[in-house]
Amino acid sequence: MSNVVQYARTGRTGVITVDYPPVNALGHEVRKGLVAALDAGLADDEVDVLVVTAAGRTFMAGADIREFGKPSQPPVLPDVIACLESSTKPLIAAIHGTALGGGLEVALACHFRVALRGAKLGLPEVKLGLLPGSGGTQRLPRLIGAEKALDLITGGEPVSAAAGLELGILDAVDDGVSALDAGLRFAQRVRDESLPIRPVSGRDDRIVGTDPALFAAYRAGLSKRARHLFAPHRCVDAVEAAVTLPFADGMKRERELFLSCMDSPQRRGLIHAFFSERDVAKVPGLPAGTPIRNIASVAIIGAGTMGGGIAMCFANAGIPVRLLEAKEDALTNGVAAIRRNYEATAKKGKLTAEQVETRMGLIRPTLAYADLGDVDLVIEAVFENMAIKKEIFATLDEVCKPGAILATNTSTLDIDEIATATKRPQDVVGMHFFSPANVMRLLENVRGEKTADDVLATVQDIGRRIGKVAVLVGVCYGFVGNRMLHQRGREAIALVDDGASPQQVDTVITDFGFPMGQFAMGDLAGIDVGWRIREERRKAGDPDAPARNWVDRLAEQGRFGQKTGAGIYRYEPGNRTPLPDPEVEALIAAQRAEQGVTPRDISDQEILERCLYVMVNEGAKILEEGIAVRSLDIDIIWIHGYGFPAFRGGPMFWADQIGLATVLDGVKRFHATLGGAQWEPSPLLERLVAEGKRFADL
Ligand code: NAD
Repeated sequence: MSNVVQYARTGRTGVITVDYPPVNALGHEVRKGLVAALDAGLADDEVDVLVVTAAGRTFMAGADIREFGKPSQPPVLPDVIACLESSTKPLIAAIHGTALGGGLEVALACHFRVALRGAKLGLPEVKLGLLPGSGGTQRLPRLIGAEKALDLITGGEPVSAAAGLELGILDAVDDGVSALDAGLRFAQRVRDESLPIRPVSGRDDRIVGTDPALFAAYRAGLSKRARHLFAPHRCVDAVEAAVTLPFADGMKRERELFLSCMDSPQRRGLIHAFFSERDVAKVPGLPAGTPIRNIASVAIIGAGTMGGGIAMCFANAGIPVRLLEAKEDALTNGVAAIRRNYEATAKKGKLTAEQVETRMGLIRPTLAYADLGDVDLVIEAVFENMAIKKEIFATLDEVCKPGAILATNTSTLDIDEIATATKRPQDVVGMHFFSPANVMRLLENVRGEKTADDVLATVQDIGRRIGKVAVLVGVCYGFVGNRMLHQRGREAIALVDDGASPQQVDTVITDFGFPMGQFAMGDLAGIDVGWRIREERRKAGDPDAPARNWVDRLAEQGRFGQKTGAGIYRYEPGNRTPLPDPEVEALIAAQRAEQGVTPRDISDQEILERCLYVMVNEGAKILEEGIAVRSLDIDIIWIHGYGFPAFRGGPMFWADQIGLATVLDGVKRFHATLGGAQWEPSPLLERLVAEGKRFADL
């Protein structure tokens, strides 16, 4: 008998148990073991009903995705599933934890499904650019109807056991604590009620009479929701096949569609994004056993835009927060803004009134540093001003207990300099949240020169606890994300100087798959922020300060973006759709005339290359300087912080895919024609091209 799938008898029920930690993935050994255990159960004359269940914390939670892309060793999952479904003894899936992907497909092959109340069911393959390829697209519609199956399969989100019962995926939800007991109880019901074996593949009561117009309507909706994505459309094709073809032909169609997804570059991008999201947690040079400091309470300094959002992140995770401001009115306003934010969420039905109060109760406002003596972590989020920050860190050094972590949310300031204000630079670290901090998943944790390893391990861990994707980076101006964004932003402005329109630039960026263009994003964040920084540098006589550009001219007119009803675009009241504005076009034309620039036609290809190659070149410099440790860290920062399309895998993965030689050619070409330090080829990029390597090989 297999050592990962056991067969045993409990009374008259044969129990097949998958025991393959951590998540009972359907790897080769499990597949082989399932077939052998089924054979044992069928051969066992003492039993009349069979139960499939799993040991540990979950039911089979999916296919073994480490086997993706490799030739699958027999028996392949569709064959195992066919084998299970053909069982001549009633076969019950007893589910706890999650039954996802291949795990749910195994359950769908069983004749009955019972789950514990806390279980979740789903077919998330679409998120990896795939579709359920072991009969999921053919069996699920037969259980719950085509429309609901389309929602589940193209959305990829799991549903609760209660929802699974209502939909018809489950035959029963059990309120016990053991899936095995639930399975045994259901086995007794099968006997008592003589429930007949009804293989899902043979049922068509839920799909006959499906309106063919459903599929056209669904495709039209997807063209808006997921216009760039390949796999959701193939999911629709597969479900349509379930409705229009006999089961065996539908299975063949599902296989073809599955293989077309496997071949799609989007699958490679999405799988890279999936694994990289896990890998950013494993920091090279920071071994898995690095001790973690206990964080049971935190303090936030500054209750403005960022401080309020950061306080919410901790309260949402049940961690008590002390929120400190310098002045009473700022504190009152900050707390009121947090309450408004929670109440808006409650209004949408996503929080109960009680949850709002619990979270507000976890946030304790204060004006006194003396109240911070016992907190484990402080995050400073006051104005972006070195003198103020240093003063605050000096005070923290006096009042905080030894071992407390002192973090700053600065976007641009030198963390090592901030650390000099304390006598404990080893405890000082950057925690760079993104706005809105309670929504955005990215957290750049910034390693100072003297930051201790256990501090780094702790801020990475706390990031996970508050639901963020935490990426560790080093100190430089703008860190990783904003430093690269800055290059794209400058290039976008220069493209408009040369003859493109803001909307042409933005359309190229959104056609590539970003949810928003560079300029629409600027209007959302407020173009006054960058303008003020540039103005200060110009006033201070900084020789590297950029010349006054058309965006600065707009900001000078009070056009800050959405918040003032106009920026690079104009906005109708109550509507966030950016609309081209003739006034802006006139202002840009005037600037060109003043500078003697004759606008030229700029191709979409040039826009794409300039906006993206400049980022990749900067990313290579960031890698070379050791600011980011791996190219996958940069990819995750861009996917989670800036909406880089996950199906392209992030900027560095994308560059690897199109070929670094192509990127380098472009960089050199723009360096020759446009000049500027940003186009000086990164020596790392040159070296990789010379060696025929990719970023991923580093
Ligand atoms: P903000 O102006 O909205 O909030 C700053 C708050 O700090 C104000 O409420 C102010 O009253 C308070 N404050 C000022 N001096 C103080 C002091 N001495 N003691 C206590 N409180 C004091 O600014 P913000 O946008 O929240 O930015 C805060 C920090 O976060 C900055 O360092 C900024 O660079 C960084 N940041 C901002 C963003 C963003 O998009 N806004 C994103 C990431 C990081």
